[in-house]
Formats: sequence, C-alpha cells, structure tokens
Amino acid sequence: MSTHDLFDPTDEHRALRSMVREFVLREVDPQAQASDRTETFNVPLFRRLGDLGLLGITVPERFGGGGMDAVAAVIVHEELSAADPGLCLAYLAHAMLFANNLQQNGSDAQRARHLPDACAGRTIGGMCMTEPSAGTDVLGMRTTAARDGEFWVLDGAKMWITNGAVSDTELGDVFLVYARTGDRGTQSLSLFIVEKGCPGFRLGQKIRDKLGMRASTTAELVFEQCRVPAANLVGAEGDAVGHMMRNLEIERLTLAAMGLGIARRCLEVMNRYARERKAFGSPIVEFGQIQKHIADSYAAFMAGRSYVYQVAGALDLVRSGSRIDSDGVKLFCSTMAKQVADSAIQVLGGYGYVAEYQVERLWRDAKLLEIGGGTIEAHQKNIARDLARIGSI
Ligand SMILES: Cc1cc2nc3c(=O)[nH]c(=O)nc-3n(C[C@H](O)[C@H](O)[C@H](O)COP(=O)(O)OP(=O)(O)OC[C@H]3O[C@@H](n4cnc5c(N)ncnc54)[C@H](O)[C@@H]3O)c2cc1C
Repeated sequence: MSTHDLFDPTDEHRALRSMVREFVLREVDPQAQASDRTETFNVPLFRRLGDLGLLGITVPERFGGGGMDAVAAVIVHEELSAADPGLCLAYLAHAMLFANNLQQNGSDAQRARHLPDACAGRTIGGMCMTEPSAGTDVLGMRTTAARDGEFWVLDGAKMWITNGAVSDTELGDVFLVYARTGDRGTQSLSLFIVEKGCPGFRLGQKIRDKLGMRASTTAELVFEQCRVPAANLVGAEGDAVGHMMRNLEIERLTLAAMGLGIARRCLEVMNRYARERKAFGSPIVEFGQIQKHIADSYAAFMAGRSYVYQVAGALDLVRSGSRIDSDGVKLFCSTMAKQVADSAIQVLGGYGYVAEYQVERLWRDAKLLEIGGGTIEAHQKNIARDLARIGSI
C-alpha cells in the first residue's frame, strides 16, 4: 500500500479531506485567532459543520449521519485542528463523545430521538465523566443515580465538560452522563441521557482563562435531585464501564489526530518562514540547527501520522479491541504536537512568540492533548499493563 493510500484509503476519504480542507481555509482559519482571544465558542460556525454532514460522521445515514468509519473521523479532526483545535475539541465532544457514543451504546429509540438533531447541528452535545475530585481515577466518581418509579434521580457534579455551556450563561443541549448505580469503588456505573430543561440540571460555572482550547467552552455541570425519565438509561444498569472503554478508543484516536493537525500546520509555518527569513546573509533554513528543528519535526509528524492512520484503519467502532494502540497514538501524538509547535516557535524567534503566525496558539492548544481524554501518565500505565498481559508484541 502506498503512503498516500494509508492516509486516504478510498476516493470517499480523499473527497472528504479536500472538502473539509477547503471549508477550513475559507471559514475556519479566518476566525480562529479572534475566537481564541475572546474565548468564544463559534456556535454558528459549529452548526455549519452539520450542513456539511460532519457532526455525525460515524452515525449511520438512517439517523442523519455520514455513515463513515474511524479513518474518516481522523481526517476531519486532523483538518479542523490544522486551523482551530479549540473548535475541533467542541466537534470531538459532540461527534465522538456524544453522537458516536450514543450510536454505539444506545437503543434505536434513543438514536431516533437524539441523533438526527445532533447530526444536523440543531442540538449541541457532550459527555460527562470527570468530576471535581475524580479524573484519572474514574471509578472514584461520586455522582449517583437512584431509581424512583419511572425516573432516575441524579445527584453530583461534573467538571471540565466540553460543550457544557454554549455561551457564558447557557447550558449545552444534551449530554451523556456517567453515574454510580452501585457501591463506590466498584465498576457499577450507568450511563444516562440528560437534556437541558431536566429538573435539577444546571450550569455550575463556565470555566474561564484556560491556557489553550479557548475556542471551546468548558464547564462544571450540577445535578441536584435531577430527574430523568427511566427511558434515558443507556444500555443496561451497571454496564457503563464497557461503554466508556469502547468510546475511549475513538476519543483517544481522534485526540491524537488533533495532534497531527497541529503539527502539520506548525511544520508548514516553520518551513515557509525558514526559507524567507534571512540572517547573516542567508536564509535561516541553511543553518544546521534550524534544519534539525524542521527535519526532526517532520519525521516525528510522519511517524505519528502513520501510526494514527494504521490504528484508525483497524479500529472497529462497534467492538473494543484497539485499547493499547489508542493509548499509544495519543501518548505519542500529544507530546509530538507540543514539541513540533515548540520547534516552530523557536524557528520563528520573536515572531513565533506572538499571535500573528498562529504557532503560539497551537502550542497552547497542544498542551491539552497531554491531559484531556486521559493524561499521558494514564496512557503509560495502561500500555505497560496491557503489554504485561499480552506478553509478546
Ligand atoms: C479543556 C478540557 C476539556 C475536557 N473535556 C472533558 C469532557 O468533555 N468530558 C469529561 O468527562 N472530561 C473532560 N475533561 C477532563 C479530563 O479528561 C481530565 O482532566 C483528565 O482525565 C485528568 O483528570 P484530572 O484533571 O482530574 O487529573 P487527575 O486525575 O487528578 O491527575 C492529576 C495528575 O496525577 C496523575 N495521576 C493520576 N493518577 C495517576 C496514577 N495512577 N499514576 C500516575 N499518575 C497519576 C495524572 O496523570 C496527572 O498528572 C477535560 C479537561 C480539560 C482540561
């Protein structure tokens, strides 16, 4: 298989990439710097992704989605992140953590009720796992759900929820919420659909002054005797750890793909700048130390890109099975993206340190990839544990 085939294995993938790239150039790139500066989630632009059929990229067409695979999801995340990783994070929370998660774990009735609106961009969704006092230690979550007749009653709070707010004061529309339905420390978690308007569900706070990903909103959400209909339980009671693990694979893969977009853009910027900028009578690209920044960045980017697309090609959206490598691609690409962005800043000198060339923003955005969706320490722990179990590679 040629390199080209690995990244765009079919004509459909190639057409998708060129459509998204063209849209990004025309509509995403021009607003990225302002959205970062003002910490604004560009909701109209986000809804445009629905017009393009991207918001439910992995959801079957009968529920309003694009019916595509993990490679397609990776392509969209790479292309959006080359311009605006913050907008892409909002996209990921909606398309992967809400829509794909509900598609994989929900019933046909739940899919029919929620996915057409989510795919069209009429609603904005997210996923609530992390809590103020439990992140990596997910089984330590404290939010509870108890059955009361035809309702489930949720109590607790969720932290760092992307798309939790759509503005400074307004909740997002619909969420998949993990809650404990058994004893603490056990695996007895269940998953619920919670919509804006459910009694007892409110926006705690929109979190401000983030280092990066400032074009996406992050919020604390509060559940106080929050009543949701019994029909909003996703899958069986107590089964949600399995849902969570399956969805984490595509989440980590697409977060790694975001790292690819960041690195590619940084490479393009430093490569162009190094040819144009002169010092001591010659373009700085002729200096060995500058060549090292560019060449090392390119090789690391291509290694990450090859790993991501190889894992994406093998990832089955329906079944778990790519855990070690979904940890592996994110572990590699998150730090790779940050280091490539760092090299870009260094190559640009003072010009890299300010907003004009985008690389300082991409460097700030890249840092989130080492934390969100699992910290790099969590990936290291998971990979070592899986390797110890597997034995041979
Ligand atoms: C911008 C942003 C958006 C996010 N969006 C979402 C979202 O939409 N939905 C959602 O549910 N969550 C979201 N998160 C939460 C994110 O997934 C968590 O921040 C992440 O999982 C880490 O959890 P924590 O912040 O509680 O850190 P902790 O788990 O408290 O970790 C603190 C430090 O301790 C280390 N550590 C913890 N346990 C171990 C261990 N066993 N061994 C070694 N080191 C360890 C960690 O690696 C880290 O360095 C988001 C976070 C951010 C910042």
